[in-house]
Amino acid sequence: MERAYAGSQYKKMVATQCRQRSRSIVLASDLDNTLVISWGNRVSSQELMRFLKEKSIPLLIVTGIDIKQILSRISTGEVPLPQAFSSDVGTNLYFLHTTKPHSSEESISSVLPSDETVWFVRDRLFDRVIRETGYNRRRLVKECLQIIQEYSEQDQYKEQFEDRLDLVFQTSLEEEKNFLNGGDVPRGWDWKISFWFFDNTRTLEKAARLAKTIRGRLGQEVVVCEEKNYNSRLGPEDRRRKYNLDLLPVTKAVVVNYVALLSKARTVAVAGDSGNDAEMLLDSGDLKIVVGGYTQELIDRIKIAFPSKDSALENGWFEANKRTWYVERRLSRRRGPQSILNALKQYFSTAG
Ligand SMILES: [Mg+2]
Repeated sequence: MERAYAGSQYKKMVATQCRQRSRSIVLASDLDNTLVISWGNRVSSQELMRFLKEKSIPLLIVTGIDIKQILSRISTGEVPLPQAFSSDVGTNLYFLHTTKPHSSEESISSVLPSDETVWFVRDRLFDRVIRETGYNRRRLVKECLQIIQEYSEQDQYKEQFEDRLDLVFQTSLEEEKNFLNGGDVPRGWDWKISFWFFDNTRTLEKAARLAKTIRGRLGQEVVVCEEKNYNSRLGPEDRRRKYNLDLLPVTKAVVVNYVALLSKARTVAVAGDSGNDAEMLLDSGDLKIVVGGYTQELIDRIKIAFPSKDSALENGWFEANKRTWYVERRLSRRRGPQSILNALKQYFSTAG
């Protein structure tokens, strides 16, 4: 068995549950505005963590931020200590160990220098899963440059998108060109190429079309979501919204499904709040939790997947494709972690 999982706290918590009850459950959660609320206090996250601990439910955090950021936020206590995390949009996986592991140095991240009981061990088997997708960053960057070039020159794109999308690398054109010339991978993004672009409407129509164009040309996972920080500052008359587009080897759902296979838990709960959680919510987990404060973009994506459940989406619980959904009520005061806690408590009261 993969060593990172074998000696992990994650595995131990699942084993504890199995001794206590017949139905085991694990939780995979997005980080920002799902597990922690940036503008809120930490009390609700702590309350959720207490509940998880009491029920021995291990937590996997799946986030778009990079590994340095997540480790630093865990070390300050702003992010609760998870039993596993996957950063950079689900392209790596680390399990928490409480003793220093024997594996090679590079696979170990000691989060708290003064604390010898917190170690994260990289899951090398999952690295192989990512490598075997055939993701070739160099080839993709080349193709992207080609698309940008064509797009800026050719009328077909102008017709398709009506106005300029300004598709730009989040790194920079210079960094990516330097990479093509044999330089380092920009920002250590081995498994990610990210763009910003603007869309002049409030619908996702153009964004979806752009994703389709790129996916079709490059045969790669494309995740598009709103740049919430930018768009939330726009006035009602501003129609030009900013979007994030990632070219990835996998979506967040892959890492959730991978850990689900390792743990053999009876129920996998997944939680998210925004567009980049859509794949994870739709393609992984058995109990899907859409937390309070969710974005319209996420709900729209779910509505597209389940057109017949339109009204159910305003009503808390519903079943679809033999999976259970909990969508926080739109006007609920419960946000992020409070919604997860509420859904899990209700799950326990009915599942026993
Ligand atoms: Mg989020």
